[in-house]
Amino acid sequence: MSISARLNRLKNELPENIRLVAVSKFHPETAIQEAYDSGQRIFGESRVQELLPKYEHLPKDVEWHFIGHLQLNKVKQIAPFIDTIHSIDSVKLLSEVNKEAAKFNRQINVLLQIHIAQEEHKFGFSFDEVEELLKTGVFATFPYLHLSGLMGMATFTDEKEQIRQEFHGLNVFFQQMKAAYFPSGASFHELSMGMTDDYPIALEEGATIVRIGSKIFGPRGKWTEEKSVE
Ligand SMILES: *Cc1c(COP(=O)(O)O)cnc(C)c1O
Repeated sequence: MSISARLNRLKNELPENIRLVAVSKFHPETAIQEAYDSGQRIFGESRVQELLPKYEHLPKDVEWHFIGHLQLNKVKQIAPFIDTIHSIDSVKLLSEVNKEAAKFNRQINVLLQIHIAQEEHKFGFSFDEVEELLKTGVFATFPYLHLSGLMGMATFTDEKEQIRQEFHGLNVFFQQMKAAYFPSGASFHELSMGMTDDYPIALEEGATIVRIGSKIFGPRGKWTEEKSVE
């Protein structure tokens, strides 16, 4: 099945108000162009050095989302054009993104990544850290950031119940924070969770954005995953 056929099938399956990030990491520009030509505009990448040439060569109305661990010293390279960063995992990174966005006088959408999985190697804040951040009102000091919401990755496991509990816990926390700190709803309205293997559960548990790669573009293969550590 072609990329556009897989994409259309997936889009028909997603509820209308759900945003789809087509995760194109490790896939060539021709694959992204094919998805673009069938109407997809939001693409997700996880490595700066891979994103930069794709940004250069592909249509300028692509909405690029960064979804991988982002190093402080690489923020300036994506600040001119990145639409949304899903993977904010430290206050230092927040501050750096604000600083670089200011240079281009643009606002960057950010999601705070919360560590909900059991695996140690996954990045992110704890629930307590995020609540502390919101409580202190630190976002008022970052005028070039738009705090869109939260992001989480479930444990890589076949235990559906565990995945469900992790997503469920994230949504409960998200709703609590939204009610307590963002009553107007102008920001903090997005919950990014769900990938190829677990997005149906994520949708049932309240995701508003899903990040899906393999189901659209096919398998990435093991060798590419090994290169994903910068
Ligand atoms: C690679 C990746 C995805 C997409 O994974 P698939 O299983 O191919 O859908 C989603 N989110 C993040 C953070 C990723 O790194």
